[in-house]
Amino acid sequence: MSARKIAQAPVKKEAVKNAPAAQAAIEWEPVFNALQKWRANLPDPSVSTVAEQFKNDPWAILVSTIISLRTKDEVTLAAARALLEKAGDCKKLLALTEREIQKLIYPAGFYKTKAVNLKKIALLVLDKHEGRVPDDLDTLLGFPGVGRKTANLVIIEAYNKDGICVDTHVHRISNRTGWLCSKTPEETEMRLRQILPRKYWRPINPVLVLYGQHLCRPVSPFCSRCVLPSCRREGVTTFR
Ligand code: SF4
Repeated sequence: MSARKIAQAPVKKEAVKNAPAAQAAIEWEPVFNALQKWRANLPDPSVSTVAEQFKNDPWAILVSTIISLRTKDEVTLAAARALLEKAGDCKKLLALTEREIQKLIYPAGFYKTKAVNLKKIALLVLDKHEGRVPDDLDTLLGFPGVGRKTANLVIIEAYNKDGICVDTHVHRISNRTGWLCSKTPEETEMRLRQILPRKYWRPINPVLVLYGQHLCRPVSPFCSRCVLPSCRREGVTTFR
């Protein structure tokens, strides 16, 4: 089907019609009920799988989240498992050379930079934090290669604290639906902290990651199969 035809394909017009005004209160419960029902039989995203496999060990979560940046889920899983088998804590990672780390995490995106950062982080954790991964956002944000997405994921998955992990999928879908209007993932996180009830802070990431991978794709989303009760389809020009 040509792009033009795709753009003209029938979609849930009522969804657009019923979409909330940008500033109106959003009914989150139907949104999350629909999303949870839709994802019932899908496997968790890779970092959640690693978290489960390594029993929510903070070091495993931190390492796998760093590996996951700009990397496909299946690559992240294999790379994280390979590295964590040899380097289950910061001391063991420091015993590896950068070249060895690179080989273990290849073909993760930016594997050379990640190997450098992982060595620096291991040293910081050992020297400044007595071998324990910190459990607060600000300290984690001071680590090389650690941004808000990674830091939030560590405190959520490893320390069971409230956080909102905004990656490219959460950012894109939150804007398309009209839940908010933001330019960066950081802005999206701050806005979600204001409008999203706390009980949804943790689940929003895994569920929207899966939704973004399967349905609300970056290019030409499957709007005709969308389960959300409403969506403004902001910025969407081509859809299926
Ligand atoms: S697939 Fe995405 S853009 Fe399309 S209606 Fe659903 S949420 Fe909106």
